[in-house]
Amino acid sequence: MLPSDPLANVLYIDLSKKRSWLERREDLFGKYFGGAGVGIQLLTENCPAGMDPLAPEAPIVLTTGPLDGLFPLASKTVAMFKSPHTGNLGESHAGGRSAVAIRMSGLGAIVITGTNTNPGYLSIEGGKAYFLDATTLWGMTSSVTAGRIIRQNERSAGLRSIMRIGRAGENLVTYADVSTETYRHFGRLGMGHDLGTAENIQPLSALGGLPTRNLQSGRFDSAEAISGEHYAEHYLGRRLACSHCPVACIHIAALREPYQDEAYYYKTTMISYDYEPIYALGSMLGIRNPEQVLSLMDKVEVLGLDAMSSGVCLAWATEAMEKGLVTEQDTGGLQLEFRKVDGYLAGVEAITRRSNEFWRTLGRGVDAAAARYGGADFAMAFGGNEMPGYHTGPAGYLGFMLGARHSHLDNAGYSIDQKELTKGSIPAEQLAQKLMDEERWRQVLSSLSVCFFARGIYTPELTLRALAAAGYSLTAEQLAATADDIYRAKFAFKLANGFDFNKLTIPHRIFETPAVVNGFDEAYMRRAIAFAGDQLASPRAELRQSSTGGQS
Ligand code: SF4
Repeated sequence: MLPSDPLANVLYIDLSKKRSWLERREDLFGKYFGGAGVGIQLLTENCPAGMDPLAPEAPIVLTTGPLDGLFPLASKTVAMFKSPHTGNLGESHAGGRSAVAIRMSGLGAIVITGTNTNPGYLSIEGGKAYFLDATTLWGMTSSVTAGRIIRQNERSAGLRSIMRIGRAGENLVTYADVSTETYRHFGRLGMGHDLGTAENIQPLSALGGLPTRNLQSGRFDSAEAISGEHYAEHYLGRRLACSHCPVACIHIAALREPYQDEAYYYKTTMISYDYEPIYALGSMLGIRNPEQVLSLMDKVEVLGLDAMSSGVCLAWATEAMEKGLVTEQDTGGLQLEFRKVDGYLAGVEAITRRSNEFWRTLGRGVDAAAARYGGADFAMAFGGNEMPGYHTGPAGYLGFMLGARHSHLDNAGYSIDQKELTKGSIPAEQLAQKLMDEERWRQVLSSLSVCFFARGIYTPELTLRALAAAGYSLTAEQLAATADDIYRAKFAFKLANGFDFNKLTIPHRIFETPAVVNGFDEAYMRRAIAFAGDQLASPRAELRQSSTGGQS
């Protein structure tokens, strides 16, 4: 890394004092490259153990990587923060133009603390922060409209990136999300092909791996109607790509709806879709009509909610109502029924408004709701995070539990189920090791801010060559040691903030509903968890100072 490389510029912003300043952090970027590697170090420095994630001092760290703008699919910005949802590590990756825009502004990372007492927004240009008034945007029901107004006021179209929250974020729903360039999110990532990740709907349903009606089944009788093929044929309006990406996996549906009482007048809404929201707001809720699924996705997008958490929470609430654990008195008169979209459209509004105790609790996640109302056996969350759409088997579920983010993207356990465990089982400890090895390597990709869809392309050999082109000279062993340091630093943060392998809960539903791979039980899962805990919760998980610098 060259001493003058702007990548090492970190912009610190204190919203409370309306102050910003630059610091050079070659020590971090030289050693950990950028992205997740630098992000976890900046988070650890600025977020002491036990800090309230919603406190003004709690930082949000945004980082980019040394390959942005140089190599294809190096397109992600990594957000690192203390999660208000799980209480420990929060990490999200988003693409769009965000990473290139931050690099073009002369920065490698941004650390934001403090709060605004008046409505405001931040504009960052040329490595400087400007604190601007947003009074006219306050209370807007649509984050899309707010984004449009900001676009009209800010310069540098094409290079700029706009990140914003919706009403769910304003109201502190713990699974609110941040959108960038309207169609990308700091949320959980997917893999894309011609049909986008939505091509997985029908195959997974056929295998019994598509969670349906709160995982009462792994097969959905209307999978074809909400499949990637059906959306591509009947609704696809555009395809988009993140900056510097030839894949263009982002699929946008055009939903044409008549205005009420207005013959021949239609409005067209453009809605981003992929596998995860279709699963969470489609099959998980039993909704068979593809246009109703799009409408619910649009509502969740406009409110600024995480689609997966929203769908899983509503699916749990529906089953809890069926079983009498939750009544209409709790919901304020709202009846939730699988397949009926109107209740769900009203439900996401109620979560966002936090309209009574029930909806406030559901806005803290399905574990919080089950702790209050019962129904833990069918509360589909792992490590405090609502499940992604893969009922594939033990590797998928262990992947959610053992991953630092409790996401399918940490280690792709769902892929091990489908490719390996369908051929025969392996000892629990061996499976845990496989998942950990995969996650350890992914620390390199996420520190270079490479899209995980490119993980088959960025092999260790190619990665070393790409790093050399960016000014980093290191061996394969040094790269592996750095990956291990980053991986352990994340778990050090989690453990310091209360994460405990022994307290991971496993909803019994996953053993009851036939999956792609069957025959696993709780004892098997606990052995794997104990093995990972021994590896990652030992004193070696303390933040180590790597001697493998890699700085040139
Ligand atoms: S594959 Fe998709 S998500 Fe990944 S960089 Fe390309 S367009 Fe973005």
